[in-house]
Amino acid sequence: MSDLLIVDSVTKSYAFGGLFGRGTFKAVDNVSFTLEAARPEIFTIVGESGSGKTTLARMILNLIAPTSGTIRFRGTDLNAIRGSRARMDFMRHVQPIFQNPFEVFNPLKKVDHYLFMTARRFAGASKTAEVEAHADAALQKVGLSLAEVKGRFPHELSGGQLQRTAIARALIPGPSLLVADEPVSMVDASLRMSIVNLFRTLRDDLRVSIIYITHDLATAYYISDRIIIMQKGVVVESGPARQVLDNPQHPYSILLKESVLSPETIGEGILGLARHTGEGPPEASAEGGAATRTLAQPRSS
Ligand code: ADP
Ligand code: MG
Repeated sequence: MSDLLIVDSVTKSYAFGGLFGRGTFKAVDNVSFTLEAARPEIFTIVGESGSGKTTLARMILNLIAPTSGTIRFRGTDLNAIRGSRARMDFMRHVQPIFQNPFEVFNPLKKVDHYLFMTARRFAGASKTAEVEAHADAALQKVGLSLAEVKGRFPHELSGGQLQRTAIARALIPGPSLLVADEPVSMVDASLRMSIVNLFRTLRDDLRVSIIYITHDLATAYYISDRIIIMQKGVVVESGPARQVLDNPQHPYSILLKESVLSPETIGEGILGLARHTGEGPPEASAEGGAATRTLAQPRSS
């Protein structure tokens, strides 16, 4: 069985301090998990602000290097990727989706510019018709079309449309992994489900694996195959998403769930969400259940 991504004992330390003392703290502390190439999945990283999610995402995207530990994508240590060709090849396969699409797209540039540029760089398209065909095909995959987007500036699209356009852009190179860092937190609540449902479609139809980073337990519950819960850089609990979220074991996970699904909100939470979309939560996959569930020792401090 070949692995798509291996995150092995990865730690990222930062220095802190000044006048009153110095030291290092671990933004990400000894995190390990593996995604298999043959089984695309939505792998969710949950944790409150500051728990190390973005730092981990940036290491997986090879934007920053771990202090210790290794990350391998399709067998290649990210640390060993040198030269523009190898970098391009990595970027072709691993694409980011960011939180705020209005920050990703320059407000003074038409959004089609990004799609066309990516088609030229990564899809080998050069003629206008070819470039437009690539852009249109990618937009169709996210429920849009080039006709709807062409010639428009970012502010002429809704947040949901713009995030879909960002996802379309990420699909043009034909990636096998998307790393989506809080992709729906800037999107209207009413549109969130349509974006996360899109991730499921991409997983099932395009066989793309998705690392979905969120602090939103409701969407995490709804679309994830597996989940890890992070607190202060440490994975405190991991396993099949519904098992973990239905019955969290670690005190932090329990707290996280209680804070979201308080008695007042529980009816409107996961169940309300399912009602809204007219769909129930996904059936727990038998395969997903094969993953072992693990729990970190509660921290004493
Ligand atoms: P999250 O995405 O879960 O909110 P982050 O990964 O952004 O968490 O941050 C984790 C911790 O690491 C935070 O305490 C943050 O302040 C710290 N951190 C992130 N990047 C840096 C950096 N470049 N230098 C110093 N500290 C950082
Ligand atoms: Mg973050």
